[in-house]
Amino acid sequence: MRTDSFVLRHLGPGQNEVSEMLDTIGVNSLDELIYNTIPSDIRLKNVLNLPEAMSENEFASHIQKLGNKNKQFKSYIGLGYHPTTLPAVIQRNIFENPSWYTSYTPYQAEISQGRLEALLNYQTVITDLTGLSLANSSLLDEGTAAAEAMIMLWNARSSNQKKNGANKFFVSDTLLPQTKDILITRSEPLGIELVHGNHTDVLLNEDFYGCILQYPAKDGMVFDYTSFIEKAHTMEINIVVAADILSLAILKSPAEMGADVAVGTTQRFGIPLGFGGPHAAYFATHEKYKRHIPGRIIGVTVDADNNRALRMALQTREQHIKRERATSNICTAQVLLAVMAGMYAVYHGGEGIKYIARQIHSLANILDQALLKLGLEQENKDFFDTLKIKVSNTDKLKTLAEEQEVNFNYIDEKTISISINETTTESDIEQIIDILAHSENLYSFKITDCPVCLSIPKELQRTSPFLTHEVFKKYHSETEMMRYIKRLERKDISLADSMISLGSCTMKLNAATEMLPLSMSNWNSIHPFVPVNQAQGYHEMLKGLEAQLNEITGFAATSLQPNSGAQGEYAGLMVIRAFHKSNNDGHRNICLIPASAHGTNPASAVMAGMKVVVTKTSETGNIDVDDLREKAILHKDNLAALMVTYPSTHGVFESEIREITRIIHNNGGQVYMDGANMNAQVGLTNPAKIGADVCHLNLHKTFAIPHGGGGPGVGPICVASHLADFLPSNPVIKTGGIKAINAISAAPFGSAMVDLISYSYIKMLGGSGLTESTVTAILNANYLKSRLEKHYKILYAGEKGFAAHEMIVDFREFKAKGIEVTDIAKRLMDYGFHAPTVSFPVAGTLMIEPTESENKQEIDRFADALIQIKNEIDHYDGGDSVLKNAPHTQAMLTADDWEHAYTRKEAAFALDFVSENKYWPRVRRVNDAYGDRHLVCSCNPIEDYIEQ
Ligand SMILES: *Cc1c(COP(=O)(O)O)cnc(C)c1O
Repeated sequence: MRTDSFVLRHLGPGQNEVSEMLDTIGVNSLDELIYNTIPSDIRLKNVLNLPEAMSENEFASHIQKLGNKNKQFKSYIGLGYHPTTLPAVIQRNIFENPSWYTSYTPYQAEISQGRLEALLNYQTVITDLTGLSLANSSLLDEGTAAAEAMIMLWNARSSNQKKNGANKFFVSDTLLPQTKDILITRSEPLGIELVHGNHTDVLLNEDFYGCILQYPAKDGMVFDYTSFIEKAHTMEINIVVAADILSLAILKSPAEMGADVAVGTTQRFGIPLGFGGPHAAYFATHEKYKRHIPGRIIGVTVDADNNRALRMALQTREQHIKRERATSNICTAQVLLAVMAGMYAVYHGGEGIKYIARQIHSLANILDQALLKLGLEQENKDFFDTLKIKVSNTDKLKTLAEEQEVNFNYIDEKTISISINETTTESDIEQIIDILAHSENLYSFKITDCPVCLSIPKELQRTSPFLTHEVFKKYHSETEMMRYIKRLERKDISLADSMISLGSCTMKLNAATEMLPLSMSNWNSIHPFVPVNQAQGYHEMLKGLEAQLNEITGFAATSLQPNSGAQGEYAGLMVIRAFHKSNNDGHRNICLIPASAHGTNPASAVMAGMKVVVTKTSETGNIDVDDLREKAILHKDNLAALMVTYPSTHGVFESEIREITRIIHNNGGQVYMDGANMNAQVGLTNPAKIGADVCHLNLHKTFAIPHGGGGPGVGPICVASHLADFLPSNPVIKTGGIKAINAISAAPFGSAMVDLISYSYIKMLGGSGLTESTVTAILNANYLKSRLEKHYKILYAGEKGFAAHEMIVDFREFKAKGIEVTDIAKRLMDYGFHAPTVSFPVAGTLMIEPTESENKQEIDRFADALIQIKNEIDHYDGGDSVLKNAPHTQAMLTADDWEHAYTRKEAAFALDFVSENKYWPRVRRVNDAYGDRHLVCSCNPIEDYIEQ
């Protein structure tokens, strides 16, 4: 055995531990365990056909070499992506810090106050700069944020508009091409009719319910939309403005122009280009849309002691509650990137942001003056950072520019645009002038200072203040900034503290070697729209990852474009839809979904224009095959698809899965497999083997991309050969099949930069290491099950009594005593643990998934904590209790008064191991209902939310 094998670092249990665990489970070998777990008819015969695993050292030099094939040119391409400077203090303390990047979506608010505060800062940045009162804590990218706005306004149409069938949505020519393309994808299944045109001459009428405009326009012109919006409003038409967030520091805000929704990317706030992502998109609107707004909103509330506390607000809008009636399918968003963008604003403050925006604007002006002097025509009268220039020959210019390692945006044979960014210097401007002069056979010259450095008319200049809250004034020295970040970091539980056994979420190791390439400039500084020959490293890596995923799923082709699992669901269903259409089966629109499915499944089906028919779950937790057959036959003329999670959301390899997929195919449907549980399959079975046609994978679960506190994620779809032609495209860089559907995400390859993590994960494990990981995940789950089942009821198991990679522990029997599953979730915090998944897929239960990366010791600590809690439940008599008062804060435990029925030690150090690494919750139990009644979603003074 090579001791430098990465698999030894990735897996928790060592050899001795494995045999002890097998003993506890009561099997003789891992083979016997797997034989008992996975039905034999779906087992793979051969090991995965992947290249041999690389050691960490070998991988490091491989990825360095591959990265050198990406060319780091100066990018003035713009189109929604700009070079920027990530402050080193943020890079080192957040971006490269596992305490930030390995944490989970802040559902357990008490152990998430740090990132909740960071997200509240982010929302404040957005509401301040857009002028709108309510912002969410990020969406996936600008294009999908625009689509969400189009759909939100669609759902919020007045009863008059609904009655009159107002279904037109005006799309201005000013819009970015990738945004336009996503609007096409997303409007069609819902019956929204897009009308493209020029906002200066479009004739709006009562058939329209909304419009979208870009500000500044895609090639740089700054239009004043005020009177257009005013006129539209007289016809009840609502307006979305897609705005460059940085430009708003010196431009009049969308709200001041009358916009109803503002969307855009916050990439310019210090986030690396990363060949297209991940970046956080923003979404802001008026408070009146608070029940319609997509995505997560962070809000202020109080805890059990009436102290200020934060949590995710208005969750009843979301798909995990509302399912097919949800406001969107957004689950994973872009939390880590939103945190970083918010911190960029904290570090620079309002003055700093204004300075950066002005600096960019004045360099653009210097260039504009120089063009005038050269005699070249610049078409944008009013601009922020982008100039549109007439040239005599773009081919010649392009050749000259690329020789100088410079990229412009080439619009047509005679027109280019140049977007100035935060990193641009005066000597860069001189280089641009040189290139243009050379290409046009003109004399170049040295620039002088700019006499007029403002090209924004008075009525469009920003006069309203922003970032006035003290958080944007206090942390401008690096010392203070570092300490602020650390202070927030210590409030949260991440994988750097203890295991996070969230069922369905697969919180495994995110290895440092997998993360390192993200910090290399030859990977993180590439614009998504550079010519293919400048991104050879990326193209090779992405092709490699596609091939790896094809092999793992047994499918023929992969699209890496969807940037979350739910986006993958939507993409997969749209591919199925296109397939049916191409067979003249466009009427097929019924989507069967088992009752136990994740909430994103029905939400995505509705977005894809499908009608959801729910199928029953049997007593044993499996799909009720008779019910499924009956419904498939009943709908056989219109059956489009089945969405099925495998192994099931109950953590079981259902043995009838092949029969289930056969039934669907026999009735004309396609099988969509939700791959969130792929961690139980890799190397042992695969979606093709069970009879599926398409699946999404959550690279941020199974394939080691960290959760980032709720994003980024990547949700590629893998398809059988008959669906490959339909994989999604991009309007700028061609991707996908020959009959490609329109874009799903803004960037051609979605969040390409973090694909490096999954690529390296697979490279360093190889076929056998991946399989060993799956086996170990199943071992760990069954070991934990063996330890817990003496104390708790475990819901569901496979035919032979084994779990797959996760299990459901039932707490419903304690309800009669007055103990809720939430009490257990909160009490685990006192033991230093993040709760497992609460009440999904069964209310009143916890779903536990230890993953392969945890060792026996850690699993034992977790089991000991749950067993001790069982003891506490047994002693509960309805009175004062550690369970009901959990979590316990330091302030509570060190107060002079202590009048509880248990000791302080029982509260804080109930087991010996806790004191070695004590985690202190910073707030007591948060009050969700209070916060929803008094909605505050930005950094406001304390008086705003304490009830008088
Ligand atoms: C996580 C998950 C999803 C959604 O993935 P996101 O990346 O959060 O959009 C869908 N289905 C299941 C079963 C999941 O666990």
